[in-house]
Amino acid sequence: MTTGPAADAGDPPSTVDAYQSEILSAITPLAPVRLELAAAEGCVLAEDVTAAVALPSFDNSSMDGYAVHARDVAGASRESPAVLRVSGEIAAGDVGAYRLAPGMAIKIMTGAQLPAGADAVVPVEWTDGGSAEVAVYQPARPGNAVRYVGGDAAEGETLLTAGTRLRPMQIAVAASAGRDAVSVRPRPRVVVLSTGDELAEPGTPLVPGRIWDSNSYMIAACVREAGAVAYRRSGVPDDPAGVLPALEEQLSRADLLITTGGVSMGGEHDVVKAALRELGTVTFRKVAMQPGMPQGFGVIGGGQTRPVPIFTLPGNPVSAFVSFQVFVRPAIAALQGASDLSLPAVQAMLTGPARSPAGRRSYLRGVLDGSKVTPLSGQQSHQVASLGRANALIVVPEQETQLPAGATVDVLVLP
Ligand code: AMP
Ligand code: MG
Repeated sequence: MTTGPAADAGDPPSTVDAYQSEILSAITPLAPVRLELAAAEGCVLAEDVTAAVALPSFDNSSMDGYAVHARDVAGASRESPAVLRVSGEIAAGDVGAYRLAPGMAIKIMTGAQLPAGADAVVPVEWTDGGSAEVAVYQPARPGNAVRYVGGDAAEGETLLTAGTRLRPMQIAVAASAGRDAVSVRPRPRVVVLSTGDELAEPGTPLVPGRIWDSNSYMIAACVREAGAVAYRRSGVPDDPAGVLPALEEQLSRADLLITTGGVSMGGEHDVVKAALRELGTVTFRKVAMQPGMPQGFGVIGGGQTRPVPIFTLPGNPVSAFVSFQVFVRPAIAALQGASDLSLPAVQAMLTGPARSPAGRRSYLRGVLDGSKVTPLSGQQSHQVASLGRANALIVVPEQETQLPAGATVDVLVLP
């Protein structure tokens, strides 16, 4: 992206989409590492995972019952059961080579190898459960309760593709494919710094003029939820000389830096902006959105250390939250090489009117319930109470200033 002090308060605002793509074009994915499967959960695959063998790799039973020749039980009924001699038992894990003779049955457990010659399994529920002899009350078609070789996946089949996040479902697939280690992009290390002389740590007494720091906790939680590692540094004072050293101190442990506060349009107290503008590698601009209008993005470091991308988010908690979801979350995903960059979006019907300033895209806190979404009251950017009730962000496009109840809107589903 264009970095440096070029874009600033006087320039026309960027659109959300343009700003998003500028950010993404400046992000390079982290180098892949090979991790043991247990440690790779939550990371993003940097390789495809293929089936080393066909899955399953041998024909086996899907039920506890009896392996039979289907033709031997073809006419079975409760009145006139097919009675077969039971010649043995095969448990799951038994690696012996068994063969079923015609007119006989072999007791078989779920997951046990089907004996050679058998073509069906009669579930125990269809029989008298006998040990030496079994009475079968119901016919079983060929293939009944049999899981065939390759019925799940063929040998060599691609099961997971690079860019997939390893959630529990995908961990199951990798393990089932025999993988003990995978090549993944690691969880990015993200340092979160809150700035402001007014900030007090939660748990300490509050005096008028001070507020408890919520941003550093909130953004650190957002970072972890996005699959990264968060380091929180709270309450960096509004001292222009102190901000840069506080950031530089974090560079060695950061793949990404996020600050909150100190980037408003006005005063000399906007210390983050003042400190970083000097570097010439971070751009401050207005983005046509609400909340979250003042934004900064660029890189710091370089020279001896690797340059680290930095987001300077506005201080109001809801502005910081929305900015994270819209800009930072996709950047964290891009660092991981993930294919799922944004929050899931759905369409829903507004249950009440929604307003938005002209020319800006609004993200309103809302409650999504099935196909309906209700805007919450308390939409100002300092109002965290409504944030606590929200499970979605309602998107009101730039060209709309008012949407009536009944209108269809795009909704971002919060994690
Ligand atoms: P600023 O962007 O620094 O001008 O801050 C804008 C508003 O956000 C002010 O009302 C700040 O007090 C508030 N704010 C800034 N940082 C935090 C924080 N870490 N937690 C809660 N509120 C904050
Ligand atoms: Mg401030």
